[in-house]
Amino acid sequence: MRNVDYIIVGDGYAALFFAHQLIQSNKSFVLFSNGKKSASQVSAGIVNPMVLKKFTTFWLAQEQLDRLNETLDEIEKYTGNHYLIKENIHRIFHDQKEKELWLSKSENPDLKPFLNLEFKTLETIKNPFGVASVDQSARLNVEGFFNDFKHYLKTNDFLIQENFNYDSLNDHSYGDISFKNIVFCEGIGVKNNPFFSEIPVIPNKGHHLKVRLSEKLNHQLTLKKKHFLFPLNEEFYYYGGTYDPNFRSEEIDEFKKEELITGLQEFYPHDFQVEEVNFGFRPTVKDRRPILGNHPKHQNFYMFNGLGARGILNGCYFAKELFQHIEFEQPLIPEVDLKRFNLEQN
Ligand SMILES: Cc1cc2nc3c(=O)[nH]c(=O)nc-3n(C[C@H](O)[C@H](O)[C@H](O)COP(=O)(O)OP(=O)(O)OC[C@H]3O[C@@H](n4cnc5c(N)ncnc54)[C@H](O)[C@@H]3O)c2cc1C
Repeated sequence: MRNVDYIIVGDGYAALFFAHQLIQSNKSFVLFSNGKKSASQVSAGIVNPMVLKKFTTFWLAQEQLDRLNETLDEIEKYTGNHYLIKENIHRIFHDQKEKELWLSKSENPDLKPFLNLEFKTLETIKNPFGVASVDQSARLNVEGFFNDFKHYLKTNDFLIQENFNYDSLNDHSYGDISFKNIVFCEGIGVKNNPFFSEIPVIPNKGHHLKVRLSEKLNHQLTLKKKHFLFPLNEEFYYYGGTYDPNFRSEEIDEFKKEELITGLQEFYPHDFQVEEVNFGFRPTVKDRRPILGNHPKHQNFYMFNGLGARGILNGCYFAKELFQHIEFEQPLIPEVDLKRFNLEQN
């Protein structure tokens, strides 16, 4: 029998940021990864304190940014790498009106820390109304983060590369593993979890392209018009992602690929080649808040889900909130508490 403090089910941002809390506190655990490409692994890695569609910020943005910086410093101590690429998002203005809106919004004290007022013009792309930077935005090196973190889990015997089978779960044991608490971080896979299948997580499909640009950009910035464009490495760029709440098939939706191609052509006037199309499903919630908490009958069964379009900031911030709740009985913020749904669970 192997005795652990925790079992974690899943291997996306929710699972890995929660695993980090356990590593920091010297808790023993095993993490189940079924090897499927998670939403997290196809994510752009953008860390953005703004909602650029509406030019607003969001709940706990500064607190979430601060915690992410702190957490990635902690992770660097055991993986040896830092994953935050401090290249700001640059908004490509659609028109003069949008630029003026940026100016007027920057007077709002909540938005002032993020809206840079230095307008620039960039080479190689079409930007007749210029661009401006979202300060404190950045992007995560997604591939590096997942490769290194999983390697660390594997070499320290924390990783079980298997599908977690709910039929084998008892209150404090799973096969030959005995545990104190279990934290389910399955993203949209939660629908297969008999204990939490009622959780109202809505899959929101997102596609992105991996492209080769004929004229490379002379900077490493993240550009944003309709979608995000940024360099992945010397050869390829990431362009995406779309939001498609009505499409659930496990296949590429061709018209979404076309939407992305048209979006890129709007501001990139040179040839480009699409090397790959990828998609994933964001676990979204109607009230746009994550879902944390325990099962009413099986009180050591916890849920960590609903990270939506902000998997990195939400995952990092609320992993610590959940850990503090489980270990030190710190109350959960009511807006994220699973109890807000009054679900009938098995
Ligand atoms: C195209 C796209 C772009 C995005 N860009 C960004 C971005 O730039 N910035 C940002 O912050 N967020 C972004 N997101 C959102 C972000 O990806 C999600 O919020 C996040 O991935 C959700 O993480 P998660 O850990 O909850 O779920 P997931 O990433 O889906 O991970 C859950 C994992 O658990 C595994 N699993 C499920 N059931 C089991 C089981 N029984 N046994 C073992 N394993 C199991 C699944 O296979 C999966 O690998 C993007 C999403 C998409 C689709």
